[in-house]
Amino acid sequence: MGRKCSKAFRKETGEKGYAALNVTELLNQSVTAIKGIGAEMAENLADMHIETIKGLLEHFPYRYEDYRLRDLADVKHEEKVTVEGTVHGEPSLVYHGRKKSRLTVRLLVDRYLVKVVFFNQPYLKQKIAVNETITVTGKWDQHRQTITANEMSVGAYSKDKELEPVYAVKGKLTVKTIRRLIKLAFSQFGSQVEEIIPAELLQKYKLMSRRDALRALHFPSGAEEAKQARRRFVYEEFLLFQLKMQALRKLEREQTPGNAQAYDLSRLKEFIESLPFPLTNAQKRVVNEILTDMKSLYRMNRLLQGDVGSGKTVVAAICLFASITAGFQGALMVPTEILAEQHAESLTALLAPFGVTCELLTSSVKGKRRREILAKLQEGTINVLIGTHALIQDEVSFRNLGLVITDEQHRFGVEQRRILREKGENPDVLFMTATPIPRTLAITVFGEMDVSIIDEMPAGRKAIETYWAKPEMLDRVLGLMDKELSQGRQAYVICPLIEESDKLDVQNAIDVHNILSLHFHNRYKIGLMHGRLGAAEKEEVMKEFSSNEVQVLVSTTVVEVGVNVPNATFMLIYDAERFGLSQLHQLRGRVGRGSEQSYCILLADPKSEVGKERMTIMTETNDGFVLSEKDLELRGPGDFFGRKQSGLPEFKVADMVHDYRALETARNDAALLVQSRAFWQSEKYAGLREHLAAAGALSGEKLD
Ligand code: ADP
Ligand code: MG
Repeated sequence: MGRKCSKAFRKETGEKGYAALNVTELLNQSVTAIKGIGAEMAENLADMHIETIKGLLEHFPYRYEDYRLRDLADVKHEEKVTVEGTVHGEPSLVYHGRKKSRLTVRLLVDRYLVKVVFFNQPYLKQKIAVNETITVTGKWDQHRQTITANEMSVGAYSKDKELEPVYAVKGKLTVKTIRRLIKLAFSQFGSQVEEIIPAELLQKYKLMSRRDALRALHFPSGAEEAKQARRRFVYEEFLLFQLKMQALRKLEREQTPGNAQAYDLSRLKEFIESLPFPLTNAQKRVVNEILTDMKSLYRMNRLLQGDVGSGKTVVAAICLFASITAGFQGALMVPTEILAEQHAESLTALLAPFGVTCELLTSSVKGKRRREILAKLQEGTINVLIGTHALIQDEVSFRNLGLVITDEQHRFGVEQRRILREKGENPDVLFMTATPIPRTLAITVFGEMDVSIIDEMPAGRKAIETYWAKPEMLDRVLGLMDKELSQGRQAYVICPLIEESDKLDVQNAIDVHNILSLHFHNRYKIGLMHGRLGAAEKEEVMKEFSSNEVQVLVSTTVVEVGVNVPNATFMLIYDAERFGLSQLHQLRGRVGRGSEQSYCILLADPKSEVGKERMTIMTETNDGFVLSEKDLELRGPGDFFGRKQSGLPEFKVADMVHDYRALETARNDAALLVQSRAFWQSEKYAGLREHLAAAGALSGEKLD
């Protein structure tokens, strides 16, 4: 230890201090312990939140200036290029006025003879000798076969200059200074950098050691080395993050007592066999995952993801029934009253024949009726309560709540989720969502939860045909709609806003309702649905549409979630470019719920490339997971959930979208580690445990 001990450091720690520090402490010292970094420089670094040696060493470049040699045939017009060539003939120097000059060199690069032009650097002429090799970097003009050079070196290309790191800087610091400081830090303390990833994982993925990778990120000997160094740190960041999440999850599971729900398997089988259809394999798998959690002593904290129409409701019914056979009550919480009503209806239909009492509780259930329900709930004569957030109010108390399911989970805030979890004697909790959350996000944001995925649609479902039409094609679109309606089917028409707005040139539901009423005269009845209607009015409109008294439902996005009218086979979405991919997919999921072919028309005239790409993707796939991945790619992780509450972790080198394979790998490795006894006991993993402790993951501190 301690070959190069700085003066400042000795002053601070005394003679014996060096040996007394372990490596972590050593690297956690102030940057002033680095010889060559004084108080002033330390202050500049502090402005960038770099305070320790470790902080400086781990201030990674965010990109590299690329000096790789390239074949001119591959270089596009105006791209930057570095080439090596021999000087062909005497360079010519021309002055324009006193200060401006132009030096032209003819350079033989492989088989090409190109021109290289230097502006205002007349002194270079003496350095460049005929028939000698030089290396130049500049902008390629393909038409003129000319490089406008800004850098030149005499001699052949040198490989260790392939990439030059570029760092984020702030205040007084320049990239050049940072480079120099990192070099100092590395030469004095680089040898102290210790490995934290277990050897077996390093070998398995052929990862560079931490020390090598750190050096290679800052001073790559070539592009390949930089790539390998990055690969190592991507894995490290993901592994540490996943270990933290999973350690938290394990602690939470083991520290919060749950219910071991001893459900009646034979009654459950009977119930499943009574269903009008066999479960899909995916449904069977997730039911088993959930039941295993329910049976265990631990408390379930599980996310169930399944695309629209993948059959989550029946999974919920099975689990609720299981809980009831174990002597518990269940609750289902949904974001809107319409949905609550629909769920109450479908759950009653499924469960009532088995003696289960379902009840609906929304904010519009009032007075005597409400008091009655609350009393029965406490008595335990209601088995399943379905409702909106009214369910989590204080006055609502259960006799023996065993299982809570929330549908459309992401619409509920973290706080609501917590209140829900605290109802009853630590009920098991299942969060269902129909918005396929990209895997990468699910395993980061919900990393502390278990995730079940229904990745299969019930058989015999026809794929919805989706088309993108420009607004001027509206007449033809209405023709198509008419054809569907004339065959007895129904249609949704979705508009982004309720009323006319001066600011936004957007079709609004009320206008569209008027236009369509005129267009279809008295042939079809047109309903209108939007968020400003009262609960009773909404319900009325929805009922009319469900019972086919109304054939066309003009609506804002309030119909987005869960609504089920299988006879509706046509959807027209106005100004579709205003919606995100996931939302369009949710909307589209309102059709295609019956056995007939369904259609979705996107009326849109997007101006941006991203907008056009969105429309095209919608017409190409019905797979919600594909769309959500794409959405994430187009919008970025911050926007996907809404920037503020996203709670997404920040990684230094890793990118959740592009490095998702590494993320999955790290997640699996972390799971295995956390479950193993060795991880918690063996000396081999002490470094990782230390890291977790530092990240607060071992003290029971919650992430939520
Ligand atoms: P989700 O809530 O996941 O969007 P639903 O639970 O509403 O989907 O199911 C959509 C439709 O598919 C319902 O009409 C339901 O009865 C039906 N369904 C569910 N599971 C199956 C299955 N295994 N086979 C056939 N139809 C099914
Ligand atoms: Mg549903």
